[in-house]
Amino acid sequence: SRKIVIKIGSNTLSNDDGTINKEFLDRLSSQVNDLMKLGKQIVIVSSGARIAGVSTIGRWLRKEDIHYKQALCAIGQVELMDAYRREFEKHDIHIGQLLLTRDDFSYGSRTLNIRNTLFTLVDEGVIPIINENDTVCVEEIKIGDNDTLAALTANLWNADLLILFSDIDGVYNKNPKVYADAKFLEIVTDPVELLKNIEIGETNGFGTGGIATKIEAAKTVNSYGIPMILANGKKENILANLINGNERATVFLPK
Ligand code: ADP
Repeated sequence: SRKIVIKIGSNTLSNDDGTINKEFLDRLSSQVNDLMKLGKQIVIVSSGARIAGVSTIGRWLRKEDIHYKQALCAIGQVELMDAYRREFEKHDIHIGQLLLTRDDFSYGSRTLNIRNTLFTLVDEGVIPIINENDTVCVEEIKIGDNDTLAALTANLWNADLLILFSDIDGVYNKNPKVYADAKFLEIVTDPVELLKNIEIGETNGFGTGGIATKIEAAKTVNSYGIPMILANGKKENILANLINGNERATVFLPK
C-alpha cells in the first residue's frame, strides 16, 4: 500500500492524566518518517482536541454545554497541532491542518477543493493532519466521530489502506476489558454481518465512537475496495510491524 490514512484516537493520543502523550507522537513521527523514506504517502486524522483543551486550562466545567465543549476544542486544537508540529519538525517534516465538516464531503465543489488541497500537500511532502471542525459544528451537522471522518477521507483521497489506531489490538466478540474470555477476530470480510454477531461494549473515557463506528468505517472504505486495519497504536514499531504482518490486529478485507 502506497497511500495510507492513519487515524489516531483520543485514548491513544493522551496520557492517563489527560495530557498529550508526547512519547507516542515522538514514536509516531519517526515511524511515519521511515515510511515516507520508503515512498509511502501518509495522511493523519487526529482526535484529541477536547482532551487537550481540558488539560490545557485544567478544568472541564459545564459538561453538557455544547459551547463549552466547542471552546475546549478550540483551545485544545492549537495544543494538539503544536505537539504534532514539534515532533514532526525533528524529522524536517512539515504538517498542514485541515478542519472539516460533514458539508465538506457533501458538496461537489467543496469536496473537490479539499481533495486537491490534500493531493497538493502530500505532493509537497507535507503531512496533512485532519480533524473535525468542532467549533462550527452543531450536533445536527456533525460527522460526530473521527472513525467516520477517517473513512470519508480515505475514500476521498483514494487511499490504499486505512489504519485506525486505538487502545485495543482489534475487534473481539465482546468487550475484552469486561470479559476475560472475549474472542479476538483476526480477519473480517463482512462488517455488516460482524455488527450483528458481536457485543458492542462501552467506549473509553474520551473516546466518542467506540467499536461500532470503527466497524462502520470498515464498511465505508471496504465498499470502495480499501482495506482497513484496527490496531493498538501504543505498541512499539506498530506501523512497520503491521505492514509486514508481524503484529496482531483486525484486518477488514474488501470482498
Ligand atoms: P478511540 O478513542 O481509540 O476511538 P474508543 O474508546 O472509542 O477508542 O473505542 C475503543 C474501545 O471500545 C476499546 O478500548 C474497548 O474497550 C471498547 N469495546 C467495546 N466493545 C468492544 C468489542 N466487541 N471489541 C473490541 N473493543 C470493544
